[in-house]
Amino acid sequence: MADLLEATNHRVRHRRKGAAISKVELFLFHQDIRDVSFEASPGGIDMPDAASRQLRFGVTITTRDGRHGEYIGGRSNIWMQARFLAERMLGMNAFGREQIYELSRRDLRKEDRIGACAFDNALWDLAGKSAGVPVVKLLGGDVESRLPAYASTWFGGEEGGLSTPDQFADFAEECLELGYRGFKMHGWTDGDTQRDIAAIGELGRRVGGKMALMHDSACHLKTFGDALLVGRACDEAGFFWFEDPYSDGGLSAHAHRRLRQMIKTPILLGEHVRGVEAMANLVAADGTDFVRADPDLDIGITGTMKLAALAEAFGLDVELHGAGPAHRHCMAAIRNTNFYELGLVGPSRGGPLTSIYACDYSDALDAVGDDGCFAVPNGPGLGVAYNWEHVRANLVEHVVVQ
Ligand SMILES: [Mg+2]
Repeated sequence: MADLLEATNHRVRHRRKGAAISKVELFLFHQDIRDVSFEASPGGIDMPDAASRQLRFGVTITTRDGRHGEYIGGRSNIWMQARFLAERMLGMNAFGREQIYELSRRDLRKEDRIGACAFDNALWDLAGKSAGVPVVKLLGGDVESRLPAYASTWFGGEEGGLSTPDQFADFAEECLELGYRGFKMHGWTDGDTQRDIAAIGELGRRVGGKMALMHDSACHLKTFGDALLVGRACDEAGFFWFEDPYSDGGLSAHAHRRLRQMIKTPILLGEHVRGVEAMANLVAADGTDFVRADPDLDIGITGTMKLAALAEAFGLDVELHGAGPAHRHCMAAIRNTNFYELGLVGPSRGGPLTSIYACDYSDALDAVGDDGCFAVPNGPGLGVAYNWEHVRANLVEHVVVQ
């Protein structure tokens, strides 16, 4: 018993040392968005002159010896998970990301664990800054990498910049001109297949063979039969992948194995599958061709790299969901991946009125290089400076845990 107490005390003393997490700050703030409407579709539609407002989430982590990591991004509705986890992380070693991953996995096992993502990304930022190197170097990747991108659109609307199949094809031609090597359409969200099928056909005719084309139903098609119809249209137009085909939530290995037997276009699932174990089950049951991963959804950079290794073990590619500095560092350290998802975008160039970055980092449509690629930030940590002035000026809630 005495030995056990001594061991416990030793662990407590260790936690009090230099790199112990001593303070976590959580920020919930507004960001004004222009030229995008979220009223008709929560995923957003391209709408000139629309004014919208979204909640955003940020975190800073400080250690006893003054080290600092920060991250803004991901979903804001993880606020309660994040508050809970912030309390649990106090006193833990800021370099012990695997221990904190394990803590998140266990403590948030009744939730989806998305609340752990921003912390993990901030801890990688802290580790990179402590070592004076960009995160990509810690991951074993090349900071000089160029990341081939696809333009990922807002959803189809009833009006606005992407309300007809022709407008999708016009925008794809515009993206091709800008240098993009891929184009992904998010279709209409009313469950009607006809406009999606017409847009897929038009994209194939106009830019097929010139760009990799993808369709993301984002689970809006209602039935397996609808998914089959849209999948066959993707086959005819030579699409590169068909993502989250219908309303099963992108979860049913059985259904998508059957769908894969009936269409030629590769299936991409995983945006809504949480955890490397569940993803392994999906892949092992032949439910998907591409594996999905996202530092904002899959327990940060740590969880994303585990998913990349899982895909590699099966001989598959992992495709990162969404855009951001954490995504770029990961992608530059992964062999088995193809594209950076630049989105969401539309012909009206809608997006935030004020950037969350206080540096030249940008995920705007026109920020793509002539080679159709994006760069990896090369400063220490995540390599970006956040616009904390904007965050503090638009605060909705601010919690300090110390
Ligand atoms: Mg998607």
